Parts: sequence; C-alpha cells; structure tokens
Amino acid sequence: MSKKVPYRVYLSEEQMPKQWYNLRADLKEQPDPMLNPATFQPITAEELYPVFCEELVKQEMDTTTRYFDIPGEVLDFYKMFRPSPLIRAYNLEKALDTPARIYFKFEGNNTSGSHKLNSAAAQTYYAKKQGLAGLTTETGAGQWGTAMAEACAFFKIPLTVYMVKCSYEQKPFRRSVMQTFGAEVIASPSPTTTAGRAILEKDPQNGGSLGCAISEAVEKAVTTEGYRYVLGSVLNQVLLHQSIIGLETKAAMEMLDEYPDIIIGCAGGGSNLGGLIAPFMQDKLLGKASPRIIAVEPASCPSFTRGRYAYDFCDTGKITPLARMYTLGSGFIPSPNHAGGLRYHGMSPVLSKLYADGYMEAVAVEQTKVFEAATFFAKHETILPAPESAHAIRVAIDEALRCKESGEAKTILFGLTGTGFFDLTAYDAYANGTMTDFIPSDADLEKGFALLPKVPGVK
Ligand SMILES: *Cc1c(COP(=O)(O)O)cnc(C)c1O
Repeated sequence: MSKKVPYRVYLSEEQMPKQWYNLRADLKEQPDPMLNPATFQPITAEELYPVFCEELVKQEMDTTTRYFDIPGEVLDFYKMFRPSPLIRAYNLEKALDTPARIYFKFEGNNTSGSHKLNSAAAQTYYAKKQGLAGLTTETGAGQWGTAMAEACAFFKIPLTVYMVKCSYEQKPFRRSVMQTFGAEVIASPSPTTTAGRAILEKDPQNGGSLGCAISEAVEKAVTTEGYRYVLGSVLNQVLLHQSIIGLETKAAMEMLDEYPDIIIGCAGGGSNLGGLIAPFMQDKLLGKASPRIIAVEPASCPSFTRGRYAYDFCDTGKITPLARMYTLGSGFIPSPNHAGGLRYHGMSPVLSKLYADGYMEAVAVEQTKVFEAATFFAKHETILPAPESAHAIRVAIDEALRCKESGEAKTILFGLTGTGFFDLTAYDAYANGTMTDFIPSDADLEKGFALLPKVPGVK
C-alpha cells in the first residue's frame, strides 16, 4: 500500500454515473409499506398524486427497478457542481498519527452548501416536465430551501418556501440567498394557511417548527392549482437521487485500488448516508464485501440508538402517511442543537430496515465533542464543515485513533455533506465555552413514544 494517492480524486465528466441506483432492488426483505393513517391500508400512487409529482411517486413506490437513467437535463445541471471530489485526508491522518487511510467525499462545493442540491435538481426537473405551475416546501436550517431555490431558478418554476420562523429571524442571510434565486420565503407559522392561522390565533409569538412548516407547505400545495410539494430527505426517491454520491465515490476508489473497511455518515433523515453507502451496501447484500457502516446522530436526537422501530407520522402536524421507521415520536421536540439538519424525529424507512436487520451500526455523539472534531478538522484540512457533517468527522477521528492503538491500517471513508458558513453562531458558542450537551432522559423519550399511533397488527 505504498502507492501514492493524490489529495483530490475527480472523475472526469465522462466517468460520471449516468444512472441512479435503487438499493431496494437488492434488499432481501422490503421495508414495511407506507400506510394511510385513516384506513391503515398501504398507500396507493393515486393517493399521493395530489401531493407529489407523478414521476417521483413512481420512483417512491418502485422496489424492483435497480437502475434509473438520470435525465440528460439533470446530468447537465449536475455538471455545474459534480463530480464532487473524493479527498484523501493526509493532513488529518498526520495530525492524528494514525496508520488508517482516511478519505472523505465532499458535497459542499455548491451555493446551497450541501448534498441537498442532488435531489432538488431531480425533483424540480420532473415537476417542470409535468408542467406544474409551482412547488412548495419547508426549510428549517435552510439548506434544503436554498437547494430548491437554486434548482427552481434554473428550471424556471415558481417556489414557495415555508421557513421556520425562529430560523427565518436568526439566519437572515439564508433567506437572502433563497430570495436572490427568486423564491418566495414565508416565515412559518404564517397567515397564508389555515394551519398557520390556527397557531397564530392561539400564540401570535410562536417561533414555528419543522412540523408546522410542513403542514403549511403541504396545505398550500394541495390548495393551489397545479402546485405540488417536495421533501428533501427521508423519502425513498431522495435516497435514490443521492446514490450519485456513493456511485461516484466507488468509481473513484476503484481507480485507486481502494475499498473502504469502514463507511461513516451523519444521519438526519438518512438521505446522504443512504446515498453514500448505496453501492457498498449492494456489495454487502450480495455477499461481495462486508464493510462496517456507521450512522452518526446527535445525542440530543437519537432516533436509531434510542428510538422505536414503529409506524409513525413523518411530520408533527400528523397529515402525512405513516412510515415504519426508527422514531422518537412525531411529537418529540429535540432540544436546541446546532446541527439543524439532524433534528428530525424519524429516519429513512430503508435505512431503518437495514439497521433492524443488522446491516449497519449507529452511534450518538455529543455536540461539544462534535465541534471539537469540526475545529480540529478545519485546522488541518482547511474546510469549515457544517455541524451536521462534523458528526461523521467525530466518528471517523475516533475510528482512526482506534487504528492507532491497534496498529491496523484500515481504510476509512466518510461523507462530508456540507460547509458551515451559516453556522458561525454555533462555532462561536463552542469557542466561548457556552455550548451545552443535552441528552434526553428515558422519561423524556417515553413521552414521545406514548403518542405513537397504534397500528392494528404491528407491535
Ligand atoms: C440536511 C443535511 C444533513 C442531514 O440530512 P440527511 O437527509 O440525513 O442527509 C446533513 N448534512 C447537511 C450539510 C445537511 O444540509
């Protein structure tokens, strides 16, 4: 293993994957189907058409098509920021004095600052192709709203973003970016929907929540002629689009004659992790390789490590179908944590199934340890990571230090999902020593579990 690997490996445009990979086609057992919460019957495509674009509903429900062609227009869009680099973290390795070889796939090289643009581009393209009049969505931390604003500007389709009010006020520059791309940004709760007005009547000062913003965005979509709603994580279609991350990574590693022993990614709703691991998990499912796969979540919002594998609503407003997933309960409100993109109560049903069946591991990490890793990484690799991404860095460093103890030269791969330029309040809090670690008690979690819907025949 003395072959000198370059710092950055880029595929050429020609080498970019031309298809997305649908991991469900290789699963030994499928995740349980989404259910209609009124009838507890599996949801049908027809029930989803008023909410989502048709082509995306088809992708959502397709468990057998292994590869989907990436439309030419989407590939052309991808070429503005892809292929993304696979970086060998030589300086981090040296600083840790580890024999491990550390690689990371960097998705922060676009204005949205995260991997979310991969799915935003696809979802917006299909919406335009269907001739829709416009799209609605919600955004919490702001990355998804920004990615959608970029894609909608490019494909020329109007976008309304319901942005959680406290975030709208705290991150005015996120809002400016979205508005610059032409999106209409509304602080949620807002007077523009029944759901928003109901909350404002009771509490005019309400700072909003992701659940409330989802309710408003869905209501606006289904009540506006020709509009549909888009979601940036959790769904099967989003994992499908994000498989581009893993496919590029695998191709680049093959060029280097490398294969990861350990693959690490942060997990909010599971889309970047699901995308990064997709082709490696395929190898694992087909018995060709057996990399360790580790999901990293915040100790403040521990869906995998302390959640229940149960049917639950995907939103706090309880208007979505039920999905069987690891969940803390749709009523669980995580404590304020600076990794906004990881504050979701549930988890992708596909990853949940893989975790339940023992194909992957999960760890929960505390916020101050995450920022310690983020700062260390920034100083040695010169990239300022997003707080979400830094969860993966934390565990990559821990694994590399374990290699130092054991003397094993393992190959470690992690996903660096984005940059942290809009998260400097969090970096300040870490630097000032005012950052706290909140870990919910078992009693806190029981409150969320108590409100899980009771689905007949499912324990
Ligand atoms: C949204 C986001 C995440 C978490 O979402 P997943 O769907 O779990 O990937 C992670 N990192 C960044 C930078 C994000 O914006």
